[in-house]
Amino acid sequence: MLEYTALYQSMQDTALEKWAETLPDQIAQLEPSTHGDFNRWRQALNDLPAVTQCHVDFNSDTLQIRSENALDGELLETTLKQLSPWRKGPYQINDCLIDTEWHSDWKWNRIVEHISPLKNRLVLDIGCGNGYHCWRMHGEQARLVIGIDPSWLFWMQFQALKHFIGDKPVHLLPFGIEQLPTNLHAFDTVFSMGVFYHRRSPIDHLQQLKATLRKGGELVLETLIIDGHLGETLVPDDRYAKMRNVWFLPSVATMTQWLQRCGFENVQVVDINQTAIEEQRSTSWMPYESLQDFLDPEDKNKTIEGYPAPKRATFIAQKPF
Ligand code: SAH
Repeated sequence: MLEYTALYQSMQDTALEKWAETLPDQIAQLEPSTHGDFNRWRQALNDLPAVTQCHVDFNSDTLQIRSENALDGELLETTLKQLSPWRKGPYQINDCLIDTEWHSDWKWNRIVEHISPLKNRLVLDIGCGNGYHCWRMHGEQARLVIGIDPSWLFWMQFQALKHFIGDKPVHLLPFGIEQLPTNLHAFDTVFSMGVFYHRRSPIDHLQQLKATLRKGGELVLETLIIDGHLGETLVPDDRYAKMRNVWFLPSVATMTQWLQRCGFENVQVVDINQTAIEEQRSTSWMPYESLQDFLDPEDKNKTIEGYPAPKRATFIAQKPF
């Protein structure tokens, strides 16, 4: 099931060559998922309809996949829904719209114009979910995109899309950041989006990110922030927007200082955005609670716990030469 020969080949003659020596062993030693739904997910992958060839538009906001042969739309939807909840997207395969919880395209469009062009770059997307942004990075002509995410469900969703999209230099490893080799010093651009606030040791996270980058490489970090001055940070008492594992929400000035303190240069804030309920919502592909249920019904600028509502900033910074 874990077939990465094409990835190992793409790593040859690049700064990732050394990792290619140890990665096959690392993949062979992965713990099999103990998730109770794992076999059902695997069955769904097996049940996907055969396709001859697909045409994909990697630059469309709803990632468009069109197969040359006709597909039974109802069967396709039922099979793909076995892999619910679908959080990141949207995608469309022929007439089947995977209307995901998040409009991940909105986040992408807010940041893509600010980053160094990805053409020919080695790109790492940490906490990539099912890989929606990885495909958009491919659309920007990155040489190789590696996404990592420890969720087996999101890995399955990625495999389902890859079934239609076919072989591209885009790969998802079912790893957490802690499973990356230390001191890779290899990637031209590293994305950490929606991950920082889940880390218990924020400074360690920034240092880990720095160690994955080559000298002169670019970090793109998107995270929850609060309004406030230098030094201000929110650490929720318990849950934040009903999420259990939220730790550090710094102000923009604080985050900038943390990045600088960790040795990043040219730290810029390129976007600040309060998440709208149109961007994150329940759909038939993610039928559980979503942002609307996480906010105070009387005041949409507060979470249900009384904290400032989710506001996200994107930081771009450079590792020095
Ligand atoms: N980057 C995407 C998804 C953010 S959601 C976006 O911005 O839209 C956060 C993701 O981080 C989840 O998919 C979760 O599975 C993943 N994650 C959780 N722990 C992680 C870890 N230790 N290392 C890397 N990713 C992790």
